[in-house]
Amino acid sequence: LDRLAPVIDELGARFEQAGEELALVGGPVRDAMLGRLQNDLDFTTSAHPDVTERILKGWADAVWDLGKEFGTIGARKGDWQIEITTWRSESYDPSSRKPSVAYGTSLHGDLRRRDFTVNAMALTIPGRQLEDPYGGIIDLAQRVLRTPGTPEESFSDDPLRMMRAARFAAQLGFAVDPSVVTAMTEMAERIEIISAERVRDELIKLVLAPQPRLGLRLLVDTGLASYVLPELPALALERDEHHRHKDVYEHTLTVLEQAIDLEEERGHAPDFVSRFAALMHDVGKPRTRRFQDDGAVTFHHHDVVGAKITRKRMQALRFSNEQIDAVSSLVELHLRFHGYGSGEWTDAAVRRYVRDAGDQLERLHILTRADCTTRNQRKAARLRRTYDDLEARIARLSEEEELASIRPDLDGNQIMEILGI
Ligand code: ATP
Ligand code: MG
Repeated sequence: LDRLAPVIDELGARFEQAGEELALVGGPVRDAMLGRLQNDLDFTTSAHPDVTERILKGWADAVWDLGKEFGTIGARKGDWQIEITTWRSESYDPSSRKPSVAYGTSLHGDLRRRDFTVNAMALTIPGRQLEDPYGGIIDLAQRVLRTPGTPEESFSDDPLRMMRAARFAAQLGFAVDPSVVTAMTEMAERIEIISAERVRDELIKLVLAPQPRLGLRLLVDTGLASYVLPELPALALERDEHHRHKDVYEHTLTVLEQAIDLEEERGHAPDFVSRFAALMHDVGKPRTRRFQDDGAVTFHHHDVVGAKITRKRMQALRFSNEQIDAVSSLVELHLRFHGYGSGEWTDAAVRRYVRDAGDQLERLHILTRADCTTRNQRKAARLRRTYDDLEARIARLSEEEELASIRPDLDGNQIMEILGI
């Protein structure tokens, strides 16, 4: 509250002067209580957007329209990113992809339409009264996601909320109430009426979260993944009784987590491309498996097939071409290193590896290293050492090339010889 006080007091005073109500709402209230407040402040107000815009223009550093038809005005004040939305009461046409929005008449009405109880709390300003009609603070203390009304009603109003449950589970590490899991399982197919872009945006947040495993498991266990990312549940191949092959689904979640650890170790911010490549790196496997006579399963090369499947899925989810190219090239290259053995590549082969990876080289290092996991610890350690060796050679070669590029074509002796001195 110390950090918030200056900004909310100034803004609250201005809205009060205009005879309007203002409250901090949703994410920032939840996050402030969890001690993880960022710089985004969402407010809800009785004021109509043009009034909000006028108030903000006399105070903020910059003001912009985030879609007046939805009643949201954006602003920046110092480090704070601010969004102020007029009270809403939503009604939905179940056949359409977008909620139709009507302005609401009270703060409580606005809170009622929100996705989860922990997101349905507001702090009124300047009164600083916590409005929590659905027991969000109790759920926050118990670290659980529940819907304000019945989950069935909430999810049929907006099926995207099922994706949001998985995203918040991954971001907050919260459990999901059993009633919510049941509704998600029963209603999973309703996600199909939601636009690919809205699904994609939640998926991105889920993958970038600290614990994506929690959200991904929920998607797979409820059957939602079969609609939004069917390649993932397809990795859970039936186990043969001798456990001759590893469970590719479990392996994939582990590789994703290793990639996240490496990302941090190597000093990178959370990176969607590396993480999504980790998630997709083995999706070619179900299509390239072969059953042996003794019942064991082997996989033929799955890199090119996997890259194609990845490309198709990302296109369906409306990712940008740049992201699609980056992720699919990582999937395509992730097996290349296994031909490296122990330093048997020529310099030309190492250079080709670098050239083919292009801008994705650092991410390829992360993905390939993350994939160096196997239940056999000694084998994993050996793979890691081999990759250390490859990275060292790449560094040496690029240093030599850099030197070569600044070295003059002739050295001093040659110049003296030519000039006869
Ligand atoms: P963050 O910004 O950290 O991702 P957030 O809680 O602010 O988390 P947003 O997606 O920015 O999440 O949404 C802001 C608030 O709007 C939420 O806290 C929630 O109260 C409400 N909200 C957003 N989308 C929906 C939805 N589809 N259905 C119901 N309420 C929603
Ligand atoms: Mg937000």
